[in-house]
Amino acid sequence: METIYETGMVTENLKVVEEKIAEACRRSGRKREDVTLIAVSKTKPVSMIEEAYHAGIRVFGENKVQELTEKYDQLPSDIHWHMIGHLQRNKVKYIIDKAKLIHSVDSLRLMETINREAEKRQLKAKVLLEVNMAKENTKFGLMPEEVMEFIDKVPQFSNISVEGLMTIAPNTENPETNRQIFSALRKLSVDIADKNIDNIHMGVLSMGMTNDYEVAIEEGATMVRVGTGIFGKRNYALDKNTTR
Ligand SMILES: *Cc1c(COP(=O)(O)O)cnc(C)c1O
Repeated sequence: METIYETGMVTENLKVVEEKIAEACRRSGRKREDVTLIAVSKTKPVSMIEEAYHAGIRVFGENKVQELTEKYDQLPSDIHWHMIGHLQRNKVKYIIDKAKLIHSVDSLRLMETINREAEKRQLKAKVLLEVNMAKENTKFGLMPEEVMEFIDKVPQFSNISVEGLMTIAPNTENPETNRQIFSALRKLSVDIADKNIDNIHMGVLSMGMTNDYEVAIEEGATMVRVGTGIFGKRNYALDKNTTR
């Protein structure tokens, strides 16, 4: 999976992204340290991740279990790997001790599996609930109206800590069209936090990607997931290992 790229490109892109994050924080009166940049490295080679690492990035997002575990083995151990893609239950065991945060929990059956695997290894798994805010039928995630019922069942999973919510907003040219989606996710997280349920904390709002992370920050994102803006376009045709 060797890709030729211009050395220095990732570093340059990161400067631009960092500046835009800082500006969005200033505009919305937020502190820069309250927003974590997740560099989404799916389909990208280890050499590019190393460049981002040397530029100071320590949190990377992957959407495939096999790719995450392979990169985990090849890269420095102080990297925090986040699983941001749809997770099959039979693969939970491979990442339970490698992913610092699973962004994509959307079923009780997946919660059961994560809880069981976490218990086996005597750890507490950190997860986000993925919410399909725009109700797109091409996307995974809980429907917004299902979330409240779902969280009432969370306390039974004693080896899971729900840290917040995640959404993948519609792919759009104009980021303003997603503003209302981000603000609705934030409102939902406040409503959940108000219920004070065991094992549920609502400190994390994972929302915003390359096209719309600035708007997401203005609406309260604490984690933004940026791939293309850092590593350039992904070429799925050339890479059989990874699919969207
Ligand atoms: C690929 C991906 C991203 C990054 O998308 P870009 O538009 O390249 O920034 C963010 N979140 C998830 C869940 C993804 O799968």
